[in-house]
Amino acid sequence: MMAFSQPRSAYVHIPFCHRRCFYCDFPVVPLGDRADGATSHSVAQYLEWLEQEISSSPPGPPLSTVYIGGGTPSLLNPLQTARLMALLNRQFGLAPGAEITMELDPADGCAERLEGYHGAGVNRISLGAQSFDNSLLASIGRRHSRQDIESTVALLNREGLFRWSLDLISGLPGLTPALWETTLDQALSLAPPHVSLYDLTIGEGTVFDRWLEQGRLSLLPSATTAAMLDRAAQRLDAAGLRRYEISSYALPGHACRHNRTYWGGGHWWGFGMGAASSVAGQRLTRPRTRAGYQAWLHGPRDGAHPPASTRARLEDLLITGLRRSEGVNRRQLAQQCPLPPEALMTLSPRLKRDCAQGLLCCEGPYLRLSQPQGFRLSNQVLADCLLWVEDLFAPGGAAHDTSLAAPV
Ligand code: SF4
Repeated sequence: MMAFSQPRSAYVHIPFCHRRCFYCDFPVVPLGDRADGATSHSVAQYLEWLEQEISSSPPGPPLSTVYIGGGTPSLLNPLQTARLMALLNRQFGLAPGAEITMELDPADGCAERLEGYHGAGVNRISLGAQSFDNSLLASIGRRHSRQDIESTVALLNREGLFRWSLDLISGLPGLTPALWETTLDQALSLAPPHVSLYDLTIGEGTVFDRWLEQGRLSLLPSATTAAMLDRAAQRLDAAGLRRYEISSYALPGHACRHNRTYWGGGHWWGFGMGAASSVAGQRLTRPRTRAGYQAWLHGPRDGAHPPASTRARLEDLLITGLRRSEGVNRRQLAQQCPLPPEALMTLSPRLKRDCAQGLLCCEGPYLRLSQPQGFRLSNQVLADCLLWVEDLFAPGGAAHDTSLAAPV
């Protein structure tokens, strides 16, 4: 049986938001614009549940990265954040120099609060800017403004307490190439050391999904959004932000260590409603509603992380690994999933075609998406990878070929 290393990373989900943005299908509990996490009964009750889950987790080595995501974690005040950090520290310990990221709503960025979060142990902020255009922000249901983003960034840069990242969304309805160019100008004028850039996706059941069905919303043509992403990649690259993952750009030394755990096939604890964890090679996603999470938490959780099948692990490693600029090393994959290395060194005709079309680069054991074409058509190539794995594990497939060399 494969031996898996113990997680050294933890994700904690804080599901509360003031309101639900029109495109959002995350596990979220809207509390209203005037809600205050410090006095909310719902927040207090949820933090108790989190405490139960974290304190009943098996022990593990000290954490090198923690990511407090959501939702809007900055609905928690510094004291609540400090209690959460103390809980993680008590259960696992924190490694020296651990990266502690917290997502922050730009409307919550005041000096006192930021200092409080820093005092709680947070040392990296992920700022959900999304756009700098106030009417566009209002049209997607966000409550913050461009001024909020700029004043928060001024504080982040002035205090120097945090490493930080700026989130942007391309392809928003109403965005034009000219407005996108202005967005990039405004983003780069803030000198972000890290940018996460996501193309708009419309989740099922969201307000935008409903408006699309009713014909009240039109999306930008895919060629326009692709051109916007390409333009962003050029501009960010020219500013020294290297694209190290499909959606992530960083100055040297500013890549997100926590996210690299996900993409590098590492393991992590996950805590809270809707949170995913990866322990012993197996992903587990918690229920996405408060009632479901509460029932799960208080029900039998034996065998919560059953061992992953070799096939599931291989699919996971390929899908996440190919998101990285460096791609995946197939010989290492074969070691992590006990397979004959030769099984992974022979590409399927579909993947050979992707290579011939310049979407996929195959250099020795390394397989990576090309930039920008491969990244742009990543869904197609990743689907081809899954079909390749299906063939490998089909009866008579190379994964079962005992004549191939055993893994080293
Ligand atoms: S702030 Fe983030 S998590 Fe909350 S509703 Fe908006 S997109 Fe979703």
